[in-house]
Amino acid sequence: METRGRPKNSRNDVFKFVNMNVGDDECWLWTGKVMGRDTRPYFSINGKKWLAYRVVYEVWYQHELQPGEMVRHTCDNRQCCNPKHLELGSHQQNMDDMKARQRHGLPHHVVRHIKRLILKAVPNTVIAERYGVSEGLIRAVKTGKIYSHVELQDGRYSDPLHGELDDVED
Ligand SMILES: [Zn+2]
Repeated sequence: METRGRPKNSRNDVFKFVNMNVGDDECWLWTGKVMGRDTRPYFSINGKKWLAYRVVYEVWYQHELQPGEMVRHTCDNRQCCNPKHLELGSHQQNMDDMKARQRHGLPHHVVRHIKRLILKAVPNTVIAERYGVSEGLIRAVKTGKIYSHVELQDGRYSDPLHGELDDVED
């Protein structure tokens, strides 16, 4: 079918919406549309919406994803479209990842991201979904029960609900 007027996206156009100017090993953030409470990145092709990082994976690795095949983020960043941070996995592996993260702890940079989102009053469910952890974990971060030693780089983390800081200087 001939398309007239506004050209439609083809699969290969997905990289037009990926910020790759940050270096090969950094997270390449999606600059296109995000949808839903969990702000997943979406890319539409002929009116049909696809998870952007799945399209990235397919185009980059020349692999057609099958139903049930999940694309996992090794960087824990849902907005990331760097193919190096994407790998194929099953739903079970995703669940296993989540359990392992809860058991062994989150990398501190992830904790900082979570704390920033908490300060921005992003709902627990959204943060939990984005990082593949439970809402209970987010609540525990919020109340300072866990990771209270991980401080935001740009200033000390203080929770307005639990204002007790270990060392107040001012
Ligand atoms: Zn990444």
